[in-house]
Amino acid sequence: MPDLISRKPGRHFLQIPGPSNVPDRVLRAMAGPTIDHRSREFAQLTAQILEKIGRVFQTAEPVLLFPSSGTGAWEAALVNTLSPGDRVLAFETGHFAALWRNIALRLGLEVEWVEGDWRRGVDLSMVKAKLAEDRDHTLQAVLVVHSETSTGALSDVAGVRGVLDKTGHPALLLVDTISSLASVDYRHDEWGVDVTVCCSQKGLMLPPGLGMNAISQKALKASDSAGLPRSYWDWGPVLKMNQRGFFPYTPPTNLLFGMDEALGMILEEGLEKVFARHRRLAEATRIAVRAWELEMCCPDPSGCTDSLTAVWMPDGHDADELRRLILDRFNMSLGSGLGKVKGRVFRIGHLGDMNDLMLAGTLCGVEMGLGLAGVPHRKEGVTAALDHLASTA
Ligand code: PLP
Repeated sequence: MPDLISRKPGRHFLQIPGPSNVPDRVLRAMAGPTIDHRSREFAQLTAQILEKIGRVFQTAEPVLLFPSSGTGAWEAALVNTLSPGDRVLAFETGHFAALWRNIALRLGLEVEWVEGDWRRGVDLSMVKAKLAEDRDHTLQAVLVVHSETSTGALSDVAGVRGVLDKTGHPALLLVDTISSLASVDYRHDEWGVDVTVCCSQKGLMLPPGLGMNAISQKALKASDSAGLPRSYWDWGPVLKMNQRGFFPYTPPTNLLFGMDEALGMILEEGLEKVFARHRRLAEATRIAVRAWELEMCCPDPSGCTDSLTAVWMPDGHDADELRRLILDRFNMSLGSGLGKVKGRVFRIGHLGDMNDLMLAGTLCGVEMGLGLAGVPHRKEGVTAALDHLASTA
């Protein structure tokens, strides 16, 4: 029996790629008394949040919040824009792209699925080929996972927009930014995205519980005629009630207190600085992995997300055993390999409220764990990462 009650002094290191560490300021904001969700005070809170969240999505268009996980926000994006039997184009960048496809299939959509090797983002030449071949415009939407949390691959959303524009294809562009928003540069309006899907527990530094859809006018128009059944996820009543600062159901009030605070913190730091901080921590992590002489799931550094790093285990070594050992010995959680790469990959989350010393501690835990687990590596990763952090303040 595992010893579940022995005290573990100090802070747990939550270094999975979300949920990420929730800052004390946000925890304190959430600890306030719950208020009447039909009061003027609440309406003011909603207005503040919707104004700030738009700046984070880099959009002037509406952003909708749902009390849900990211999976709910995926479903909301589909049921509000599509009809039974509609065709959508989707790319197998990894586990989360596959889960989104499964939802589309269960909803009765037809998915044109472009297989992939889970080591890179969306291949723009395949986007071009698929759209060019669809001369009758039977594809209604293109689904892209911006930051594939299972592999660490980043897809070029502006590039996909460019292909849609060049081929003159009218399909909607639906993008999952669940592990990229507020960590990696993302521009809903400039990149002409129709629905951006996100949730609270990653770059936004909140606990799980809020799903989001940022939408375009084109998506809004599509929702007038979309025929998939929808009730809870229907954008219409939310948009209507939000105008007065309310929701068509009881909202998660205290999570919204936290969101107001977290968005304030992100905007206080400045989006550019938030992205630069994530880039620098990600680079230090990639430097460590290379110095350990381990392989990254995503071999091309220019195609990696800055929110996490997925590391391949050498043959014959089990990633889950390594993670278990690191949790037991050093009280640190790392992300597991998901789906096809279960046991082959472990993931280091470096998103959200992170700084140099938190990353240094994380990498120390990994390096000590690799040694204790007998995983072949060079003991140079931490030193190389610290050198990078020290020289790039
Ligand atoms: N999409 C991506 C890229 C994710 O990383 C996740 C979860 O980690 C999801 C979707 C699903 O979100 P949730 O688990 O909150 O439903």
